[in-house]
Amino acid sequence: MQATPEDQLDLLQLQDFELEMSRIDYQLKTLPLLADLARAERNFEDNRDLAIAASTQKSDIEEELKRSELDVEQVVERIKRDQKLLDSSDTAPKELEILINEVANLNRRKEELEEIELEIMVRIDTAVENQKSFEKARDEFASEISKLTAERDLAIATLGETRKTIEEKCQPILASLDPELLNLYKKIKESNGGVGAARLLNGKCDGCHLQINTVEITRIAEVAANEIVRCEECRRILVRI
Ligand SMILES: [Zn+2]
Repeated sequence: MQATPEDQLDLLQLQDFELEMSRIDYQLKTLPLLADLARAERNFEDNRDLAIAASTQKSDIEEELKRSELDVEQVVERIKRDQKLLDSSDTAPKELEILINEVANLNRRKEELEEIELEIMVRIDTAVENQKSFEKARDEFASEISKLTAERDLAIATLGETRKTIEEKCQPILASLDPELLNLYKKIKESNGGVGAARLLNGKCDGCHLQINTVEITRIAEVAANEIVRCEECRRILVRI
């Protein structure tokens, strides 16, 4: 195939632009910010769920406290009732003794129940503290997500702009190159890791980086400038510069 030396150089330029665009595409996919953002999102979700769990736990313990308060109230009521009977002059002496014992027992029971009540209150405090700290962490991660999202969007927009500029520079080359040459380049590019055209530099193909043997170098030197030369090793279009 034939192509003017100018077209061959344009093809190299196109190749450079396309490689640059591939690098940008790779950068877009592997932005370190994306990993940071994913981590912040995971942490946000974890702390949000833990805050909900702590709040549910707090409500459960509050129910437990209500029941415990009721238990204490019932005992207090019984003590009052017994006390009334004790204070009454109608109560028989035998009954008085029973009542005195019962009040003593009830007072012990009341103390026990109050003890339980206190423990429950301490557990509520712990649950409240937990909820607060998970909510604080959740909110901090939410702010981090907003910050990272803005940074990510900016990075994507900046890289996108650069890519667009390069893409625009490719247009005139794509329009001017011989379609047959372009097709050959694209075909080689697809099967050669995105590189279809390479420079012949100091006796080396900069596509596969292999040294070209002297016989081949001599042969290439004799090939007319508008003849397309291919690398013997990688079959890429070899542009003499
Ligand atoms: Zn090569």
